[in-house]
Order: sequence, then structure tokens, then C-alpha cells
Amino acid sequence: MCLSDSTSLMDRTVIKFSHCDKDIYCFSDYNVCWEPSVHAFTADCRESKSRLSRCPLCFQPLKFNLLEAPVSIPCPFTNGHNSPYAFNIGSMCGPLHISEYDDSELHIGITNSKGVVYNYTLTGVRRDECGWEQCVSLQLAPSGWSSLSDQWDAELEHFSSMALWAPQRFHEEREFGSRCYAFALTFINHMRTKAGKPCLTRDEFTGNYVLPRIKITSKYVRVYQEISHNGFYVPDKHRHEML
Ligand SMILES: [Zn+2]
Repeated sequence: MCLSDSTSLMDRTVIKFSHCDKDIYCFSDYNVCWEPSVHAFTADCRESKSRLSRCPLCFQPLKFNLLEAPVSIPCPFTNGHNSPYAFNIGSMCGPLHISEYDDSELHIGITNSKGVVYNYTLTGVRRDECGWEQCVSLQLAPSGWSSLSDQWDAELEHFSSMALWAPQRFHEEREFGSRCYAFALTFINHMRTKAGKPCLTRDEFTGNYVLPRIKITSKYVRVYQEISHNGFYVPDKHRHEML
């Protein structure tokens, strides 16, 4: 089973430009559907920003000077299998559901040095070699931990084999959606203890590391969904919907 299915991948590039005194978000290829002549003209320069020809608000031709040129919005998702020593946040429903505005359950996993994602589920600890291609990854092993990185894989494997993470214990003391998180955070604290660092409480780890990334991701998902539905998106500046 893979965590995300390919139909829900978010693989289009979001760009932002200014016109009509507003910030306007769209996909980098949005103009194709309503300006065929421009499409033909720009077919040879697919990456060129010249594909943007008209503003979706005023329909005037777009001309940018260098400072106004459209900018790409960084995608908050990375391939968890290319992120060794990381805390990965994914969703069984696909990356569009990694958002604080979504009710579906998030799933957490820890990567070893080779990008295998260890995650605690109803069937015990899984070692996923695929399925985490679009997730939010928090790097866990800064340079000060380098002496531990050699031990990381063996520790993770040993930790995952402990009776604490047996399938039949999954429902014990379970707050909804939290057992995979407990597995990951307990391992992080296990490694922090070995490195002579104090353990982190769930609130500390969530507040300092997880929530800031989830907030950025939630805004991106919101903008992405709006563009998917409407072709473009103009945020309300007063509601802090900017990226
Ligand atoms: Zn305009």
C-alpha cells in the first residue's frame, strides 16, 4: 500500500504576479486554455514567463518590468524518500490533505539514512520504500549529531522492533491519530538522549517545529485548491492569506 495515490499529486508550479494593485496567484501554465494564439507563440519556450499574456481580472495584456516579473512559490512538499534522518508528515488521502483546515488524519514517519520511512500503524511498524513522495519533511539530524548518524539506522531498526510498538498495542492509550506521532517523537527523544540533549515534550516539538511548517503548507494547499477550481486566486490581504 502506498501512502499517496498518484491522482492527487500536486505537481503544478504556483506563481504570483501583481496586477490591478493585487497579488494574483495561478499555475505557471494557466494561460494555455484561454489564449490559444499565445500558446502557439510560446510553444517553443515552455518555461518562459511570457506565457502569461493577460490579467485574469482586467483582461489587459500583461507587461512586467524586471521587478514585477512573476515569481514561483516554493512548494512545501518534498520527497520523503530523498530526505534521510527526517520526520515526515503525510496523508493517506494525498498532499492536498496536509492542512490544518482538513479533518483527515495525518500520518507520521521517520526516515533512515536511505530514505526508508518507518511508521507505526495498526499492523505494527511499517518500513515504506514508496508512498511518501509528497510529504512535509523536517530534518532531524543537524551537524552536531553527525557522530550519531552512523548509529541512526541500527537504532531505528532496534527501536521499531520493541514490544512497545507491537500491533496489538496500537489502540492502547490512543488519542485519535496520535500513535504514529508518539512513535516518531519517542524515537527522536531516544536519539536526543544519546546525544546528551534534553527530551522534547509533545507540545514543544509540535509548537516549535511541526505547526510552523503545517501553517505554511496549509496556506499553499488553500491557494493550490483555489487555483485548481477557479484558474487563479486573489487573496484577501487583510486575512493574511498571502504566501
Ligand atoms: Zn489586471
